[in-house]
Amino acid sequence: MKKTAIFPGSFDPYTNGHHDIVMRGLDFFDEIVVGIGYNSSKKSRYFEIDKMVQKIEEVYKDIPAVKVVVYNELTSSLAKKHNANFLLRGLRNTTDFEYENTISQMNRYLNADLETVFLITSPQYAAVSSTIIREVHRYGGNVSEFLPYEV
Ligand code: ADP
Repeated sequence: MKKTAIFPGSFDPYTNGHHDIVMRGLDFFDEIVVGIGYNSSKKSRYFEIDKMVQKIEEVYKDIPAVKVVVYNELTSSLAKKHNANFLLRGLRNTTDFEYENTISQMNRYLNADLETVFLITSPQYAAVSSTIIREVHRYGGNVSEFLPYEV
């Protein structure tokens, strides 16, 4: 049976840390769907949604096993839609763990077939977060070293 995982997040922006999780995930999933959670009526993104989709698609243009979708529903529902039995998530530290533990339990409750698989961050990306990259970019700092594409 084909093993599909959803890699959900807001990806505002998508970073080398995210890219690393996807590339490592390809060792054990046949297909990974990068799911960008987005609510058009909230308009709270820093990096424009269409631009980000385009950039991420560019990163994976030679890897057909990776797809990119924008969604505005429960992650567990998105998983059902794609016949995905796995959620892929990254763990950097205990703060990530506390948060991930809760949502993983809830997703399992909402969709009993859904197993969350965690990969511990590669040490070189442990300090990379979308939040910090937004802050640096906002004040004109160069963030290209942290992103798998040019902004
Ligand atoms: P959220 O929308 O939940 O804040 P993000 O878009 O920041 O999520 O990230 C999505 C997933 O990627 C989460 O599982 C998060 O822990 C993981 N992640 C983010 N940055 C890194 C990193 N530098 N290394 C490994 N995993 C990461």
